[in-house]
Amino acid sequence: PIAVDLADVTKRYAETTAVDDVSLSVREGEFFTLVGPSGCGKTTTLRLIAGFESPTDGTVRFHGEDVTGVPPEERDVGVVFQNYALFPHMSVGENVAYGLNFADPPGGVSDDERVRELLELVDLEGMQDREPDRLSGGQQQRVAIARALAPGPDVLLLDEPMSALDAQLRERLRIQVKGIQKELGITTIYVTHDQEEALAISDRVAVMRAGAPEQVAPPREIYRRP
Ligand code: ADP
Ligand code: ADP
Repeated sequence: PIAVDLADVTKRYAETTAVDDVSLSVREGEFFTLVGPSGCGKTTTLRLIAGFESPTDGTVRFHGEDVTGVPPEERDVGVVFQNYALFPHMSVGENVAYGLNFADPPGGVSDDERVRELLELVDLEGMQDREPDRLSGGQQQRVAIARALAPGPDVLLLDEPMSALDAQLRERLRIQVKGIQKELGITTIYVTHDQEEALAISDRVAVMRAGAPEQVAPPREIYRRP
């Protein structure tokens, strides 16, 4: 089954075609990565899926249903950006609980219980009273992931979540993100300019160039054409 698909999607700004007639399908439960150089349209594609942008042309569907004009808060997506946008005046637990404002969390548990579960999931158990500024970059990104997951979204969208980290932390966070995705089985769409990272983490990779994927395949088949 298909979780998200784009059909003939184009996004134009004044003189730029950021996304150029893209059609692609992301399967349920899949870790799908958009990779390519700066300016090739990765972030715009992700923003079109999230609903922060509307396409100039084409259709975005979730589970076969047209969501093209539907605002982000009604799309059942959790989004994590490159620069962790945690609220500095709130504790870690409050940041995660903030994500609970957007939907009923699954399972009928209390907010406190849900925050504890989410922090455990991202390997930050017991950290709810910490201040975000006192955490490492990797820890902050995991808080942002927990917050994005709080409402129990159907799809997780990650835009360069590791790019602010040094190589060692990036490697660790990569393993943690993959672990979280596997544990939840959540459909994940990931944006990175780092090919090695894309190949290490993904079920399938879309190699983007100039506004469109030039290849969509599992990592082992990427760059190996018959
Ligand atoms: P990537 O994420 O691969 O770096 P982007 O999707 O951010 O690429 O950008 C694709 C192209 O669209 C770039 O040329 C960028 O400058 C342009 N672009 C993106 N957003 C806007 C915008 N809001 N207004 C004008 N041009 C934009
Ligand atoms: P990323 O590096 O993650 O691709 P960018 O720094 O390219 O992100 O873009 C950050 C924000 O700026 C996005 O909201 C994007 O739409 C906007 N943006 C990118 N390029 C342009 C541009 N040329 N003109 C106006 N806005 C842009």
